[in-house]
Amino acid sequence: MQFDWDKTIKEILAEKMACQACGTLGDEMIVGYTRNAEAAEFAPRCKECTDKTDCDARKLVVVCEACARKFRVNGAPMDETGMMAVVMEECRHNLEDSIDYLANYWKEEVEVEYDDMSRGLHEVDPEIFREEDSWRMRLEEEYIQLHRWFREHGQPIPDPGWRSQYVEEVIALGYTTLLGD
Ligand SMILES: [Zn+2]
Ligand SMILES: [Zn+2]
Repeated sequence: MQFDWDKTIKEILAEKMACQACGTLGDEMIVGYTRNAEAAEFAPRCKECTDKTDCDARKLVVVCEACARKFRVNGAPMDETGMMAVVMEECRHNLEDSIDYLANYWKEEVEVEYDDMSRGLHEVDPEIFREEDSWRMRLEEEYIQLHRWFREHGQPIPDPGWRSQYVEEVIALGYTTLLGD
């Protein structure tokens, strides 16, 4: 009988979590937020930050205890399921922000004319709309992956009603979403 080393190692690793900063493995990691600029080097949402030396954004990170201290992470120790719930919550916040922007926030930018405020962003500034729309699509793809993770691991989706509420909001704005119809 052939021994499938690759698979075995992967299975062992799958039951562990890895520190995003130093790679240490563990059953639990600190999951939380930091504004530390150095954390932009490994924070998932900062992959596309152009100036990582100057990023004071609130960053969600998953780190070991030593790195939590080093990067002053405001968080709590969690297992994989707890971590995935926080990641899903953050994805939902990002989607809500995107919808708020499409519905209202863009109208409050100083350069927007009063008469344009009754129109949609896709009419007033198609280019900015396309940018926002593709960001939202990427978040929705991420959401679908997270959803799949909960299903594959037999874990209940936290606050499952969120999804249909989000879909209604997007459709009310006259836009489409990958999360339903
Ligand atoms: Zn670490
Ligand atoms: Zn950043």
